[in-house]
Amino acid sequence: MPRIPKLGLTGWIMVALAAGLVCGLLQYLLLPEAVNAGIIRWVHDPLGDIFLNGIRMLVVPLVLVSLTLGTAAIGDLRKLGRIGGKVMGLYLGTTAVAITLGYGLAKLFHPGRGLSLPVEAAFEAKSKPFIMDIIVDIVPTNPFLGMVEGKMLQVIFIAILAGLSIASLGDKAAPVKRGLESLDAIIQKMVWFVMMFAPFGVFGLLAKVVASEGIEVFIPLIKYMGTILGGMGLHVLVTYSLVLIVFAKLNPVRFFLNAWPAVVVAFSTASSNATLPVTMRVSEERMGTDESIHSFTLPLGATVNMDGTAFMQGCATVFIAEVYGIPLSTGDFLTVVLMATLASIGTAGVPGAGLIMLSMVLHEVGLPIEGIGIILGVDRVLDMCRTAVNVCGDLAATAVVSKSEGALNQATYDHESPRMTVGS
Ligand code: ASP
Repeated sequence: MPRIPKLGLTGWIMVALAAGLVCGLLQYLLLPEAVNAGIIRWVHDPLGDIFLNGIRMLVVPLVLVSLTLGTAAIGDLRKLGRIGGKVMGLYLGTTAVAITLGYGLAKLFHPGRGLSLPVEAAFEAKSKPFIMDIIVDIVPTNPFLGMVEGKMLQVIFIAILAGLSIASLGDKAAPVKRGLESLDAIIQKMVWFVMMFAPFGVFGLLAKVVASEGIEVFIPLIKYMGTILGGMGLHVLVTYSLVLIVFAKLNPVRFFLNAWPAVVVAFSTASSNATLPVTMRVSEERMGTDESIHSFTLPLGATVNMDGTAFMQGCATVFIAEVYGIPLSTGDFLTVVLMATLASIGTAGVPGAGLIMLSMVLHEVGLPIEGIGIILGVDRVLDMCRTAVNVCGDLAATAVVSKSEGALNQATYDHESPRMTVGS
């Protein structure tokens, strides 16, 4: 009997990724359309959806319980404010770099110059968010409603308030704290169980995308896609490496190896929110960060920090302006930076969120919203890639802040402790 090689979770997820790509491609190339659609409906969709539902189901309870405990461990508002300040500084700084890079590279390579493309679908502009509305909406009128609707900023607010109260009550709140610690362990175990299904889910999600996307749609937009993928790669490798080295003296190669499982799940699900349980697990078990830090910075990042999305918005704005032959001024560039940053703050990390935000950006600089219809066909694949970048950005900032707070276990980061495995 041939022996099945013992792979860790990362290994199995990578195998699933490759299998999904190959299977989807073969299906697309060899099978009649009806059979292809049947396989997607009966096999790929259920596998992907069961996995997605499973991790989404755990997002709110996980954030609520672990952030309450994390805040209770920090205990004082000043320290919490300091951590929040550091991480928001990193999130906003890297986002601004990403938009500038996206805008600049598109100006350099002109992916939209001379193109005349069909608009695939009508798109309506979302109105500009009013910053005060975003701030007011952080405080829920009903905590359960915030949780049911999965409004992450509200869940973060509730958890911080509960954690601070537990810390200030001391002994009186001790039984609840112990109960929460037990609940935290249970939820972590549930994440572990769901992750055992990850290879099947990743296979289903990938195979579906490859089997249902026609290759033809990519050809006219190859330069646009190349600019975005190459530029995002540059942002991840250069910006994050510099941030890790300069601010925390952390080895960037080790960082990317550690981040891998979260990156793959982000890529397959195209949702940083849904990836959150995996991101938190990776941060704790592979980066060695303390729960008191990552239980705060990662849920916040999944909502407000989207470097890949910001990069795409900078690039897509120039692309659409070029296709329509509309010049952009320096003032327009500043509007794009401001709007893309602002838009990302109030928008959840779900598939396609970036395009909704792009509609606000285009609206503000006076470009036709219909331009989004041109890039719609290729956006799913780009969404998968930019979500991977978004999650990488959250993990990098979390590692830096944890190190600066003395809350990063260097031995775990350097791969000297037990890893995240399946079935062990
Ligand atoms: N899907 C991305 C995320 O969840 C957002 C986007 O760019 O559409 O991070």
